[in-house]
Amino acid sequence: MRTLVGMTKLELEAVAVELGEPTYRGGQLAKWLYEKGARSFDDMSDLPKAFRAKLVEGFKVSALEYVTHREAPDGTTKFLYRAPDGREIESVWIPYPDRVTACISSQVGCAMKCTFCATGQLGFERNLTSGEIVDQVLAMQAQLGRRISNIVYMGMGEPLLNYDNVMASVRLLNKSVGIAMRQITISTVGIVPKIKQLAAEKLQLTLALSVHAPNDALRDQLVPVNTKFTLAELYDAVKEYEQITNRRVTLEYIMLKGVNDQPLHAAQLIKWSRGLHVHVNLIPFHPTGSDFDATSNAEIRKFARQMEDAGFPTAVRAERGLEIEAACGQLKRQLATQGS
Ligand code: SF4
Repeated sequence: MRTLVGMTKLELEAVAVELGEPTYRGGQLAKWLYEKGARSFDDMSDLPKAFRAKLVEGFKVSALEYVTHREAPDGTTKFLYRAPDGREIESVWIPYPDRVTACISSQVGCAMKCTFCATGQLGFERNLTSGEIVDQVLAMQAQLGRRISNIVYMGMGEPLLNYDNVMASVRLLNKSVGIAMRQITISTVGIVPKIKQLAAEKLQLTLALSVHAPNDALRDQLVPVNTKFTLAELYDAVKEYEQITNRRVTLEYIMLKGVNDQPLHAAQLIKWSRGLHVHVNLIPFHPTGSDFDATSNAEIRKFARQMEDAGFPTAVRAERGLEIEAACGQLKRQLATQGS
């Protein structure tokens, strides 16, 4: 069985021709899958029954199967989906009055082993296909009946280590699902050659760099990939990204009590960021059964003020979905622990 979600319009046209239909039927299929959100062939009412019968024999519509979800009082909803090989991934629906953001996964597990992250503790299993990435968005939209306007690749996995599939999914989400490129954010722990490759594509998406520590010694511990790509190399890559795309990069910085949240750390981050046009996003830490504690709100505000005073626009990420363990990897890990 081949899966339709994940195919481009051209590929869907080839499927139509392969099944003895005119090319334009592929365009109709693309509309049903990506614009109208069809989840079964029965939904595709303007396709001839004979064509639908042929499709049923060799193809399935969606790449993922719904497993479960948990909704927090603020509406943030975490979904668990199962891929055809039985592996499970998480996606989060984050509603606001004027928009909905989807936080999606790009890999099953993650090889980066960031010490504060639940997914890092699960280890890496495999890359997701572009269809499995896009289907997280389509499945959530279909289930909750509202359009997603913003996408952040901040779920399980390091997106830039699944570069080709992630970029294919970005193109589908932009061109076929209709999500504006500027509303798409790709987050990375700093895979320098891939940041440069992404810059060369000159897309108007947002790059978020998970910096998390302002000096190499500390970053080596928190984000082990730093031993391969140092802060100095990252600085050059961010600079190049800014110059080529004309886009501001977001610096993500998780606040870990007594570890990276002191005035000295803010001063080092300011020093490292000089000459870059970056936004800073401070992320309150959610406990993941690791050895870290969360920085208090007052201390986070102090850190933010220090960054602002140095001229760097700084936001503190609103805590959403705490009740449902919304940080990446937490639902999957919890269910695994419970043996479900
Ligand atoms: S924080 Fe991101 S890159 Fe690091 S281990 Fe977790 S999922 Fe991977």
